[in-house]
Amino acid sequence: MDFPFQPVEKFLLPIHGSDELFPVNQVYCVGRNYAAHAREMGVDDRKPPFFFTKPIYSITTGDVKYPPNTEDLQHEVELVLAVGEDMSIFGFTIGVDLTRRDLQGQAKKDGKPWFRGKSFVGSAPISRILPIKGFEELSDLELRLKVNGELRQSGSCADMIWPPQELLCEMAADVPLKQGDLIFTGTPEGVGKINTGDIIEASIVNKIELSFKII
Ligand code: MN
Repeated sequence: MDFPFQPVEKFLLPIHGSDELFPVNQVYCVGRNYAAHAREMGVDDRKPPFFFTKPIYSITTGDVKYPPNTEDLQHEVELVLAVGEDMSIFGFTIGVDLTRRDLQGQAKKDGKPWFRGKSFVGSAPISRILPIKGFEELSDLELRLKVNGELRQSGSCADMIWPPQELLCEMAADVPLKQGDLIFTGTPEGVGKINTGDIIEASIVNKIELSFKII
């Protein structure tokens, strides 16, 4: 097939224990999926979760350049689902939904989209994909996030308002979920500010780790 220019290459994530690579399609995120985090953001924790997206250029497996136009870059540690064929769960991993909180807050006030708050190069650091057999493996995962060795976030996926299987059903009713899609499933409480030079260590306890620096 001919193109007027070279097509942009797919982002490919390593798969744990395999030589195959996971070709990323869309990146979806869930807002407000843990009641305690909803409360710390000053919103009613009985309101249902909702969805937004991040561009492909958000995804990174390396260090993150401090983004422009913000003085309040914040971390949100999240379980990430990796969608397989026919809306199956291929696997999961750990990711951080980096957020320009000041821009997000202003957008909320102005009734504008969250785009600038959530979308910048490297705003979705992620680890390699761990393949799984079923949803049952995702029920009681423990999430952790440390900044410069200090524990900032600690939460259990058992506290999700919508657990993974329900999330998938809710999303599938609204968007054409495809193999290669990633779903950031929301963050537990404890989000906070990070700065240039900080080392972020995120993990799913006893499963997988992710480490990057803000440069
Ligand atoms: Mn988030």
